[in-house]
Amino acid sequence: MKREEFRRLASGTLILDGATGSNLMAAGMPRGVSAEHWVLEHPEVLRQLQGSYVQAGSQVVYAPTFTASRFYLKEPVADLNRRLVALSREAAPHALVAGDVTTVGRPDLSYEEMLEGYREQIEVLAGEGCDLIVIETMMAQQETMAALEAARAVCDLPVMCSFSVSSDGMLYFGGSVYEAAPALEALGADAVGINCSAGPDQLESVVRSLRECVELPVIAKPNAGLPVINDRGEAVYPMTAEDFGRSMKKLQLAGASVLGGCCGTTPAHIAALTRHVRAKEETK
Ligand SMILES: [Zn+2]
Repeated sequence: MKREEFRRLASGTLILDGATGSNLMAAGMPRGVSAEHWVLEHPEVLRQLQGSYVQAGSQVVYAPTFTASRFYLKEPVADLNRRLVALSREAAPHALVAGDVTTVGRPDLSYEEMLEGYREQIEVLAGEGCDLIVIETMMAQQETMAALEAARAVCDLPVMCSFSVSSDGMLYFGGSVYEAAPALEALGADAVGINCSAGPDQLESVVRSLRECVELPVIAKPNAGLPVINDRGEAVYPMTAEDFGRSMKKLQLAGASVLGGCCGTTPAHIAALTRHVRAKEETK
């Protein structure tokens, strides 16, 4: 997909998918296994999930390549990324498929090491025909710049960058999204914003402030609320689909135009989001 075409779509209202990981667990994926391998062993689960997201209104689905990189796996990753992209394409033939990369998960890698690892993965994602690249759940400005620079070195695809933030906009490994987002805009990102983090009800001021510090479309893909841990030690996300959808409408009014859900959201959450953000007349 051309970058201009993406920017046009993204400055209207562009609807992303919801969670992958928490839904795979709900479908039986044990904790501690490699999601990439589990998905390839249970392709019907991903087909069903992503098919449901498209029915719910998602225009973009994220290929389940999140941790299919040398930062997380010891084996060669090229073939794994290829197969996962092909699976998403099959699951959602009429949606845009984003090749998904994430944080390196540690603060001590050199910029060169990060650049090299991202380049290796993104080159395969782009080569396999992804429509765009998403760099998500990022924890620091440096690693995100490395991933964006790697993407720009190997392809001309649109690139979205989103950070995991606390409700004051701070990043996990230091710095704030308000410093990071303009730096990424200058480096050639096509949309910037937040994902994961907290619930949409806690992120309105972050989105509003972010809207003021960049010209680019702003992404909001939050969790279904802050998780509570149940007696089996599992994270439970408390927000109902309807509350999530209503709250996402507020983030849209605060300036986000690329909207989806992260941990704990389901196709029902995306359906509610779609209904609320596509509604012309709604009371604030
Ligand atoms: Zn998440």
